Amino acid sequence: MKTPYYFYDLDLLERTLKILRSEAKNKHVHYAIKANTDKRICRMISNYGFGADCVSGNEILHALRCGFHPSKIVFAGVGKTNEEIEIGLKHNIACFNIESAEEVQVINRLAKQMNRVANVAIRVNPNISAETHEYITTGTHENKFGISCEHLMGVIHLIEDSKCIKLTGLHFHIGSQILNMDNFKDLAQKLNIILSELYNEGIEIEHINVGGGLGINYDNPIDEPIPDFQSYFEVFNQHLNNSLFKYLHFELGRSIVGQCGELHTKVLFVKQGVVKQFAIVDAGMTDLLRPALYQAQHRIVKKNPSGEKKYRYDIVGPICESSDVFGNDYPLEKLKRGEELVIKSAGAYGEVMVSEYNLRAKPNVYYREARSSLEFAIDQQYIMN
Ligand SMILES: *Cc1c(COP(=O)(O)O)cnc(C)c1O
Repeated sequence: MKTPYYFYDLDLLERTLKILRSEAKNKHVHYAIKANTDKRICRMISNYGFGADCVSGNEILHALRCGFHPSKIVFAGVGKTNEEIEIGLKHNIACFNIESAEEVQVINRLAKQMNRVANVAIRVNPNISAETHEYITTGTHENKFGISCEHLMGVIHLIEDSKCIKLTGLHFHIGSQILNMDNFKDLAQKLNIILSELYNEGIEIEHINVGGGLGINYDNPIDEPIPDFQSYFEVFNQHLNNSLFKYLHFELGRSIVGQCGELHTKVLFVKQGVVKQFAIVDAGMTDLLRPALYQAQHRIVKKNPSGEKKYRYDIVGPICESSDVFGNDYPLEKLKRGEELVIKSAGAYGEVMVSEYNLRAKPNVYYREARSSLEFAIDQQYIMN
């Protein structure tokens, strides 16, 4: 198979979805489609009954084409254009997560023109810092997302005065790749305070959406291929006061698809530098941007490990940028030209960020089938015979 290519393990995805569905119980999970828009992956997730979390008009259209029901589609994003808002209104999506007072006015005006009433949730910035990379924390005052608690009442009054908008919920999302459950506990406790203050003002909120952000194990994907959804949901069961709302929503992206994807690449050259040894591979930041974008580290293994002595290599791509690095002093058995390497945990924020910089071709995609679909194929064959 021609490298570089993405390889998706649909069987692992299916096992992940089964566990997620059984752990989520009566909670509503919307898949954050921006993490991976592969059609087979999206279809499988919608087949499991999950909703979709979209951040653009095209994502809404993609979600609809992949079988997500409009009543389970939510639409977030700080910068929605008129056209994108109209797509949401036209398809009667479940909810717009609004991020500014001006957005309330624009959605109200467009909804009026189209004779609709838009359901909205206010994205609140709870001023909680998640212990993750600064580029993927979203819930503090210093970033562009959401409405601060100080401005919340003002926006609620604005919505009450807007005839074509109905306030149905509050929305939160504090960041991504969060592994310390205390961050989610902080969020739950902050939420209790906000909700009881609103209750005292006579405002009842039906839907709470706590966003996504549950991290995956990048260091050891082989031992932990499926995230600990149980502990994650348990934090909210324990710490969120559920007498203050009716429905609890989640928007998980990375934790659903992250471990089911790999990027396969071949060694082009092994080059001895002055102090380091480089392995130059045929995948680059154009195929997987995360290391260059936020210093992310993925596990790298040989496709056919020999079990021999390990050497230290800087694993670098062919792109004309110094940040095009997948690993520094990375221990791997002796490499030679043509050797295939596997970059693990590349299912989320991988293929979706592919670019054609340097006029590179986009990587191919291959799949391991899910067991259920194999059984289905065997059944079909049996029937045909
Ligand atoms: C990106 C995003 C998510 C998903 O984040 P993950 O870390 O992939 O779970 C959820 N909600 C919103 C609003 C987002 O922007």
